[in-house]
Amino acid sequence: MSIYQKILVAIDLTEEAPQVLNKAVEVSKAHGAQLMLVHVVEPVGYAYGGDIPMDLTELQDQLDKAAKDQLTKYGEQYGVSKENQVVTVGRPESEIHRLSKKQNADLVIVGSHGRKGFQLLLGSTANGVLHGTVCDVLAVRIQ
Ligand code: AMP
Repeated sequence: MSIYQKILVAIDLTEEAPQVLNKAVEVSKAHGAQLMLVHVVEPVGYAYGGDIPMDLTELQDQLDKAAKDQLTKYGEQYGVSKENQVVTVGRPESEIHRLSKKQNADLVIVGSHGRKGFQLLLGSTANGVLHGTVCDVLAVRIQ
């Protein structure tokens, strides 16, 4: 039996996402593993520090829909079925931790920019995912 059976790939929906997806598809094929696409939509309220008295529900709904549409496109392109596409709302790192446990993933794949110097201090999603995920984590170097 292969060492990886359920792989969760976190994608940020930028133009860099296909680099991460391509590797994730290759790794999942090599292991005959199930591949799950995950995107985390950050709550719009966070961007305003939550103290603007505005109803942001509609904007949040639009963001969720745009993320689901994009994930559907990736699913079709990379052969990942609808039930293996997850869009969730929250902080990317903590949502990825939560989902990897909930889904019993044995590998999480994220993109990494290979930050140096000062940028390192700012941290990265890959770093945040690594510290707190109980299964293996593969960081795909983004070119
Ligand atoms: P960053 O450190 O934010 O540049 O992101 C690096 C990697 O973290 C991306 O290539 C994704 O694998 C993952 N990531 C960042 N933001 C998200 C998000 N909102 N949802 C899912 N994965 C994300």
